[in-house]
Amino acid sequence: MGIIHAENLAKAFGQGQNEVRAIDGISLDINRGFHAITGPSGSGKSTLLQLMGGLRVPDKGVIQVNGTDLSIFDDEELAIFRRRNVGLIFRQYNLMPVLNVYENITFPLELDSRTIDIEYIHRIAQLLDLEDKLTMFPKTLSSGERQKVSIARALSTKPKVILADEPTGNLDTRAALEVVGLLKMTCKEFKQTIVMVTHDKEMAEMADQRIYLRDGKVEKIIRR
Ligand code: ADP
Repeated sequence: MGIIHAENLAKAFGQGQNEVRAIDGISLDINRGFHAITGPSGSGKSTLLQLMGGLRVPDKGVIQVNGTDLSIFDDEELAIFRRRNVGLIFRQYNLMPVLNVYENITFPLELDSRTIDIEYIHRIAQLLDLEDKLTMFPKTLSSGERQKVSIARALSTKPKVILADEPTGNLDTRAALEVVGLLKMTCKEFKQTIVMVTHDKEMAEMADQRIYLRDGKVEKIIRR
């Protein structure tokens, strides 16, 4: 069984004639490494990632993360499980404007009243080339730098799993390649499982495995 295990997953939106089967029977095991979920717009990529992160509840099927069945949790427990086990990265960086870079990175730890491993935070900052930006505020950073801060924040809790939804959606090609390259590097460095949703062929090709979706189903899986 994979670190992420999906079995007969289904999720629909709307009802009757308006029903859209966003995820239409997906079974999948994802192991350690860097994976891309790709496919045309509307094929179910974001919905699948949201199901993996417990951000949405499936209509049918099972989703397990790190051996834990997410259906055992209520909303609050899910939020805690996510905070401790899953790092999330979005297209919008969702940084706190009133916090500086260091405070943004360590925010999930503060939320959980966890001790901050200062050495580890500096190591992440160094890997992501953010060390000289730790006292700066988000509004003074470039888009690429902001996304690097959100990656550092996702890494701060040392999660086994990182889920990234179109993390390069707001970046130019150069910054996008850098960000995906960094994700790939941290994935190796910290022995993680990273799942990245992208519709961009070039970004998807950087992953160890590409999972192609079409109409809510897995169309094909290509390993490198
Ligand atoms: P992708 O990420 O591949 O573009 P999505 O997972 O966002 O695809 O969406 C899959 C399908 O589900 C689309 O047809 C989309 O319109 C629909 N959908 C997604 N989220 C919602 C929602 N909150 N309400 C209604 N329909 C939705």
